[in-house]
Amino acid sequence: MTLDETTSESLFDRAKQVIPAGVNSPVRAFGSVGGTPPFIASASGALLTDADGHEYVDLVGSWGPMILGHANPRVVDAVREAAGRGLSFGAPQTGEVSLVEELVRRVRPLRKVRLVNSGTEATMSALRVARAATGRDVVVKFAGCYHGHVDALLAEAGSGVATFAMPGSAGVTEGTARDTIVLPYGDRDAVTSLFAERGGEIAAIITEAAPANMGVVTPPESFNAFLAQTAHAAGALLITDEVLTGFRASAEGYYGIDGPTAGGTRAADGAGAPPVGGSDWAPDLMTFGKVIGGGLPVGAFGGRADLMDLLAPLGPVYQAGTLSGNPLATAAGLATFAGLDDAAYAQLARTSSTLQSLVADALTTAGVPHVIQTAGTLFSVFFREQPVTTYEDAKDQDTAAFGRFFHALLEGGVYLPPSAFEAWFVSTAHDEQIVDRIAQALPAAARAAA
Ligand code: PLP
Repeated sequence: MTLDETTSESLFDRAKQVIPAGVNSPVRAFGSVGGTPPFIASASGALLTDADGHEYVDLVGSWGPMILGHANPRVVDAVREAAGRGLSFGAPQTGEVSLVEELVRRVRPLRKVRLVNSGTEATMSALRVARAATGRDVVVKFAGCYHGHVDALLAEAGSGVATFAMPGSAGVTEGTARDTIVLPYGDRDAVTSLFAERGGEIAAIITEAAPANMGVVTPPESFNAFLAQTAHAAGALLITDEVLTGFRASAEGYYGIDGPTAGGTRAADGAGAPPVGGSDWAPDLMTFGKVIGGGLPVGAFGGRADLMDLLAPLGPVYQAGTLSGNPLATAAGLATFAGLDDAAYAQLARTSSTLQSLVADALTTAGVPHVIQTAGTLFSVFFREQPVTTYEDAKDQDTAAFGRFFHALLEGGVYLPPSAFEAWFVSTAHDEQIVDRIAQALPAAARAAA
């Protein structure tokens, strides 16, 4: 049979001939839920249209960046205008200064920042700075936390590594793996005893500010503050990865929720979540991506000025990028920030909580065990009864039920992340009408999951 050249199925067939698994990032292949991924032809607001002409309400949002919805006119105009002035200069330009000023203004621990092209580059570079600053090699990460496909950080990572039930990745050298110590998330005792034994070897702890790549796990109260104290007492650093939570969990990322409340200007968190940090703590370095580029490739890492000034040409840590600080990406990021005011965060919080209630009602009515967990406006749904606090918990869920739920929703015109280990992403374009479309599709999907 000759397939129409423009269907998702024919495109997937073509793609598989020349791209491994037909995709440029593993989770897009629908490996764990099965079936052919829709090839997206266009997107507008909260909606995606695929090559077959089907329309879906999008709850992936390009895995986070599209916080104002797709093809937001203000962002598109800014990119168009920037493109008219040149696509890349490989030289300093105004937009990168303005974007970094915006980051520094919004996030209290940021004194200096460098822009890169992805979240992976951001965590890789932050790690290099931490190792150079401390003269130590070992990095501590938590099982289920994903920090991009950096060699040193792939062990027991969440996201696609979890979706495909991989322990880590082939191609990572033994030496690199040896320098990475993986601990159970939220386990203070494990952190304390590791530091008692090997504190002098540890360069840094890296953690997702709130884990969202094994599904969303709300950090235990003051856990990030505890990590900062423990690291600092041993002369190590704390890197909080806000690539996913940054400007999404709240206006100041997860630090806006569990950072100190006194002293310094506190951005409104909009999520209505009470701050739980209490003590006066800050990470030494932070990483960002996704939202700050409004859908164009970007990442950022920054924090203490003394650490960031270790970067070449001021200091001995080399880090560079042909396209870093790209004028289109900075224009998209700035236009996105222009739309991210208190009202936008309040709306995101409302939409997120309405959706959580709708999902809970539908699954409860259908008798499907589930638990919904949040970090500010971020949330995800686990197909199990008990709360998830560790990666082991997250893996212990009914992924087959999720698969049925996923496909029934897709059939009903709702595009969820194709994995039980991911957060669901809403945008300011998810208005009442859009939420109503999701509400219509939920009961049948919940029955399919039962
Ligand atoms: N860190 C976190 C917390 C992430 O969620 C991701 C991507 O999902 C990354 C790092 C890597 O970012 P990128 O995919 O832009 O390389």
